[in-house]
Amino acid sequence: MSCGNESKTTVTPAESAPVISAPKNIIMVVGDGMGPTYTTAYRYFKDDPTTPKVENTVFDRHLVGMSSTYPDTHHSYVTDSAASATALSTANKTYNGAIGVDMDKNPLETVLERAKSLGKKTGIVVTSQINHATPASYLAHNESRQNYNEIADSYIDDGIKADVYLGGGWKYFIRDDRNLVNEFKDNGFTYVDSYQALETTTTDKPLFGLFDKKGLPWALDDTNMHRLSSMAKAATKHLENQKGYFLLIEASQIDWGGHANDIAAAMGEMDDLAKTLEYLETYVKSHPDTLVVVTADHSTGGVTLGAHGVYEWKPEVLRTMLQSPASIAKALETNDITKTKTNELFNFELTEDELSTLITVKSDTLKNIQITAITDEAKSKKISLEKALYTAVKKVIDGRTNTGWTSSGHTAADVPVFALGSNKDMFNGYQDNTDIAKKIFTLLDK
Ligand code: MG
Ligand code: ZN
Repeated sequence: MSCGNESKTTVTPAESAPVISAPKNIIMVVGDGMGPTYTTAYRYFKDDPTTPKVENTVFDRHLVGMSSTYPDTHHSYVTDSAASATALSTANKTYNGAIGVDMDKNPLETVLERAKSLGKKTGIVVTSQINHATPASYLAHNESRQNYNEIADSYIDDGIKADVYLGGGWKYFIRDDRNLVNEFKDNGFTYVDSYQALETTTTDKPLFGLFDKKGLPWALDDTNMHRLSSMAKAATKHLENQKGYFLLIEASQIDWGGHANDIAAAMGEMDDLAKTLEYLETYVKSHPDTLVVVTADHSTGGVTLGAHGVYEWKPEVLRTMLQSPASIAKALETNDITKTKTNELFNFELTEDELSTLITVKSDTLKNIQITAITDEAKSKKISLEKALYTAVKKVIDGRTNTGWTSSGHTAADVPVFALGSNKDMFNGYQDNTDIAKKIFTLLDK
């Protein structure tokens, strides 16, 4: 408290010695695209309307700071997921599209690689394909995030760097020219391709689990709406060992909801991430030598809670969604658009205006398709009708909730930082995304 008391001997060890032991386990959690508006939206989405209070969420309980996200400044202030994940994984700014490489395309060591070289176990759990930009930036080095097959190949060819891989991506790992799943099995991995099989895996072998062709279905449409938290639980159990572990968890598809300007899908993904953090909250209580750091790589969509000058954001209809707007659109494509059908699909009653808009969009789009008659007619018909109906469904939901959007891409807003457990205070206040990696390297090297 007071200065100049060095001669006194009553100083407690906690005050005198900043000797904080390094965490045994480090769990890095990335909400892809999760700018501050998403965690705010999630609070109101989860609010219990029967109480006068707006309840806090798991995000509110663990907020510690903010982070900037800009890539190497030759490339403007708006980052993509590859440059930002490379900043979070290597502590270096680079160009958009770069996977674990610097501006000159030289490989940079990642925190996951450092953890492995120190004898820790490592893992990744994502809802995208496991070779997508964010996980790839922890596991691979490639000049472009678009080189999906090369990145997948490198997971074997550059040496196996992780003990647990969970997410999507059959398309890239089971190919005509190469079956990487078999190669992982040959290297001693247990392979699972269903959530049920994941539940019953034993922890004596490393684990490779792919649950869909590319990304997993939207949380709202998946057989397990909380698949990220299920995968995270399985991963922590598999990774526990004497020397500790580094685990990357990514809620990959918040960003995809943002790109699609789809607030319902985004809230579904946020709910899966929140369940994951609630699990980690209890995990840290029983494993206090674990650090959990949560942030986003950037914000997406320029989402606005309250649009058109109207002072209202009304998430009510989002709380009762039974499926994603994309799957509602698919159903509207193949069914007659009636009041009964739309009530069943949206799980709320559409107004006459909303209903007639959907009917008009469908009939107008079908007419237009006939006029423009393109080569692969059947295919283009399906794509453009589905797309038009998806846009119309999202419009209904944006109208009901008064949600606005300013972009189909990323924005430069700073993102929130959350931390739990051992050494969490290191992440307080404003920091750059590269600082997060620097702090993790410091803790690994302790
Ligand atoms: Mg990502
Ligand atoms: Zn994105």
